[in-house]
Amino acid sequence: MILLDGRVVSAAVKEIIKTETISIVANNQRPPHLVAILVGNNGASETYVASKVKNCEEVGFQSSLIRFDSTISEKILLDKIKELNEDNTVDGILVQLPLPKTIAESKVIEAIAPSKDVDGFHPINAGKLVQGLPAFIPATPYGIMLMLEYYKIDTKGKHAVVIGRSNIVGRPMSILLSSNLPYGNCTVTLCHSHTPNLKEICLQGDIIVAALGKPGFVKEDMVKEGAVIIDVGITRVEDATAKKGFRIKGDVAFDEVSRKASALTPVPGGVGLMTIAGLLKNTLLAYQNKMKAKEETYHKEH
Ligand code: NAD
Repeated sequence: MILLDGRVVSAAVKEIIKTETISIVANNQRPPHLVAILVGNNGASETYVASKVKNCEEVGFQSSLIRFDSTISEKILLDKIKELNEDNTVDGILVQLPLPKTIAESKVIEAIAPSKDVDGFHPINAGKLVQGLPAFIPATPYGIMLMLEYYKIDTKGKHAVVIGRSNIVGRPMSILLSSNLPYGNCTVTLCHSHTPNLKEICLQGDIIVAALGKPGFVKEDMVKEGAVIIDVGITRVEDATAKKGFRIKGDVAFDEVSRKASALTPVPGGVGLMTIAGLLKNTLLAYQNKMKAKEETYHKEH
């Protein structure tokens, strides 16, 4: 069995981004700039945002973290996003989800300029993705595609089973895997909480992407011999023996599934790291798009 190692792949992706950033700065340009907004102090969100900021620094990007108390009004958040949309020194904006219940997530997502939407959640980017147009791809599915590419996983004509239909993971993943792309061209079955016979469907999967948020859900008896298994799940499970009082668990029962799979992502150390790699790639792309547009405007005016 091949361990699809997020540490190795994300390090390789980050190295390329870092080299590109060094050459940007050597050309006397400013580096790409990502702004993360964190509302409240949810433990998992704090960890994710801290990791995003740290990774930006590692590749030479500028990063800013804007914090708001969980009691802020929706208007304050929307006004801040508007300000960042208009700020030419900002390339990417991400608002860490989930938000407090008093703020409508959809309004916040739609307020971000599609050209700065490095999470790829804006309906314009989602629509472009469906139509196969250039778009910001949500970071987790993007990271998974980068991983499939790195390990040269043969996807063409394969049956991919995606479990979970969220807008940030399952649904865009099903679109990418079914698209006419180098690591796409799968026949995809998108499963969700109302799917009957899930086990039978999974047993037909050459590739399974588990993104449902139920620790250890995918068991050995649900997996075909030689299948490629991508575990997206991240759930904190209480464990008094762990230093932090919890352990991170994926949606796949790793030990038993590893006996049957031909390739498998670990949790932690798999898709989570690739999500950051996807986000960094999107931020660099946002920067490059902006610089290209600036250059085109300059040439038109001179
Ligand atoms: P979500 O809660 O928005 O969606 C879960 C999906 O799973 C739903 O579509 C639901 O229909 C489906 N589902 C739930 N129970 C099911 C069942 N018994 N059978 C079949 N389908 C079922 O979740 P999400 O935001 O897509 O996240 C899924 C998991 O991935 C979570 O554990 C989350 O923490 C994790 N996640 C990880 C990363 C990463 O970087 N690795 C990024 C995003 C999310």
